[in-house]
Amino acid sequence: MVETATANSATQAHAYSFFRGVERNFDKAAQFTRFEKGILEQIKACNSILQLKFPVRIGDKIEVIEAYRVQHSQHKLPCKGGIRYSMDVNQDEVMALAALMTYKCAIVNVPFGGAKGGIRINPKNYTPFELEKITRRYASELVKKNFIGPGIDVPAPDYGTGAREMSWIADTYASLKPGEVDALGCVTGKPVTQGGVRGRTEATGLGVYYGVREVCNVADDMKRLGLTTGVEGKKVIVQGLGNVGYHAAKFFSEGGAIIVGLAEYEGGIYNEKGLNLEDVVAHRKSTGSILNFPGATNIKVSAETMEMDCDILIPAALENQINGSNAARIKAKIIGEGANGPLTPEADEILNKKGVIIVPDMYLNAGGVTVSYFEWLKNLSHVRFGRMDKRFSENQNGRILKTVEDLTGKKASDIERSVILHGPDEADLVYSGLEDTMIGSYHEIRENLLSLNVPDMRTAAFITAINKVGVSYEELGIFP
Ligand code: NAD
Repeated sequence: MVETATANSATQAHAYSFFRGVERNFDKAAQFTRFEKGILEQIKACNSILQLKFPVRIGDKIEVIEAYRVQHSQHKLPCKGGIRYSMDVNQDEVMALAALMTYKCAIVNVPFGGAKGGIRINPKNYTPFELEKITRRYASELVKKNFIGPGIDVPAPDYGTGAREMSWIADTYASLKPGEVDALGCVTGKPVTQGGVRGRTEATGLGVYYGVREVCNVADDMKRLGLTTGVEGKKVIVQGLGNVGYHAAKFFSEGGAIIVGLAEYEGGIYNEKGLNLEDVVAHRKSTGSILNFPGATNIKVSAETMEMDCDILIPAALENQINGSNAARIKAKIIGEGANGPLTPEADEILNKKGVIIVPDMYLNAGGVTVSYFEWLKNLSHVRFGRMDKRFSENQNGRILKTVEDLTGKKASDIERSVILHGPDEADLVYSGLEDTMIGSYHEIRENLLSLNVPDMRTAAFITAINKVGVSYEELGIFP
């Protein structure tokens, strides 16, 4: 079944151009904007495309590794976007993902251009030492080509990569640029000990949760779907239990939703009464699979898990997972795109007709880049968030509490005291900045959706992005 699931997604992936799909969505939205054709063409185009082939010794053989870095837009610098390790990596995919990064940054008001990188490998086939060699060689190629740097292009984790790879990249960059004081700002998603920021690991999944929670908090929209307001009690299915999917599922269940289905590449599991996420993770760790989880039904063809009964579906694995062939069978009333491009344009059309709310990737999974922006700011300022003001706030809160106690003659309990006195530390500030961003950006998109009477939220999100990038190009002026 593993082979079937992978083969299906690979076939779908190559059946159409992901970049063309992004362009199609862009064109649909561009009609609702006021920009002249040339500006729109410029926004749409990929500015710089780097294709690399480099040799790495693996065991007793030399392997030629294929890799990419695409800078879609340099209207704001640095460019920003993750690095993906997957056998599905190809130029079209990296271009599409880089373009989505441009729009994503604009939507959440992160002042970066869009970029993306990818190495065409299956990381599971290499030892950590071999992965380190491949990553460091890729990073040094980026340095040689001037495709990385705190003011040029700042990668981050994506599918198949994490804090460990980012740490190797930061170290490689710093060794090649001795004395560069801002060197740590060349990449984000680093471990906290290596200049990372608290809250980055879970940021994308947390952002997915904040975004969908905000969608569920709009009473009118929930009424139209026949749902109650709020996340609590809603049935959720998540595809992909990696960084984004796991954390999204975790925050949904902490928020009172019921995780009824989980899908991984080896298959899916479903229990309408709910699955305990941590128990599923422990079960997978001990048995090597999520299948045969006590009390749950196995779903052998993993993708079919997404067709089970639920209110909210979070595809958080890869692109093209919901397409012309399975969209009609999806029962969810809200689809939150944790992954990039999990719905093809055909799927969009089918589901929009059914009245499903599709919360688009370029908004919903922007939590990662938002917190990456905070990490980059931390690296450039060389100071931990909260270091300067935490104690000041606590002292100030103490004085206010004492005044209230003196005036009322009542004493706060120990729990109330500790909640009121608490000054913000780094994680508090990062979570708060992310929550504010996700809420504010959702309402900017919804405002366009309603005021321009556009057909769906993806189009509204594109309009929001095009308006911001377009103004930026206009004000930048076109070089003679
Ligand atoms: P990850 O490698 O941590 O996790 C992906 C998970 O999906 C893995 O557990 C994998 O086994 C599973 N998977 C793969 N194919 C599957 C299939 N056919 N069915 C079910 N499960 C499958 O990757 P990630 O960082 O969580 O990224 C997932 C998606 O989210 C990607 O589209 C990525 O571009 C997007 N994204 C990630 C971030 C981030 O901060 N990591 C930010 C924005 C967007």
